[in-house]
Amino acid sequence: MTPVEALERVVHCLDRAHTGGFKTKAFVRALDVVRETPPEEIVERAESGTLTELDGIGDATARVINEALAGGTPGYLTKLEAETQVPITDDGARYRAALRGDCHLHSRWSDGGATIEAMARTAIALGHEYMVLTDHSPRLTVAHGLSRERLEQQLADVAVLNERLAPFRILTGIEVDILEDGLLDHGDDVLARLDIVVASVHSKLRMDGAQMTERMVRAVADPNVDILGHCTGRMIGKRPESSFDPDYVFAACAQFHTAVEINCRPERLDPPRRLLELAVDYGCYFSIDTDAHATGQLEWQPHGCDRAAECAVPLERVINAWSIDDLLQWAAAA
Ligand SMILES: [Zn+2]
Ligand SMILES: [Zn+2]
Repeated sequence: MTPVEALERVVHCLDRAHTGGFKTKAFVRALDVVRETPPEEIVERAESGTLTELDGIGDATARVINEALAGGTPGYLTKLEAETQVPITDDGARYRAALRGDCHLHSRWSDGGATIEAMARTAIALGHEYMVLTDHSPRLTVAHGLSRERLEQQLADVAVLNERLAPFRILTGIEVDILEDGLLDHGDDVLARLDIVVASVHSKLRMDGAQMTERMVRAVADPNVDILGHCTGRMIGKRPESSFDPDYVFAACAQFHTAVEINCRPERLDPPRRLLELAVDYGCYFSIDTDAHATGQLEWQPHGCDRAAECAVPLERVINAWSIDDLLQWAAAA
């Protein structure tokens, strides 16, 4: 294990545990420093005990680098590997075992922390057959949303990566903003070219309930939209659910074959149980997605799988438990 590999894995484990904060930042910073420093210099400094003279390397990160260079798995990493496993219930495990991909995740192209390739390699290691790359659309400027031009570049990059990573497939996609009037933040011509489109509300979350219902139904009914992302917009303990009439929204999801996302982010877990049960009653399709912004977060599907089990989501209605061919056929027809 090289120092870079060891530090990458430490960051991955901290991310999957949703640690955040100072500790994660310290390791991300150290990883950047080691990547930017010639490997011979890292070896020299390890031998002379001067790693911590590099700006961004502290005692804890230096120890990981030293132990990786010594040829073993750093002790801190071994401890993290054990402590940061994402738990899952027996009932949830039945769903997780059936999942073949992840339909909502971000890369460095928007506000994610990892390259497309790093996300893909992690997805492969998790046993996925495919992932849908869904970086943000232009309206979300804080998240470096993708203009038409940047999306074109991304599609070219994905085509190259797909040749290298086959038989794994990176499906093309986007998390498109649902604008205030329910229109989408990219034209039909752009969206129609993508394999899967996730549509989400990110602005004016507090708008009047009747208006929000219309806004969401309009987006859900758009033939290019395949998945309704994190429908209530809540952040547990921080931001309440948006108001909308879930009967209208889920009836529209069922009618227009737009899957209701079961968002696995621990701070979202969206929709909440009562709404998830309602969506089940309406006969909706579902997608159990991580909305990962880092490689470690791709391991969050158990959170959504436990939810799906608790709310008796029919497994045959979970679109990312399907093969690529079935998924694409459904998306094209929907
Ligand atoms: Zn989102
Ligand atoms: Zn997202």
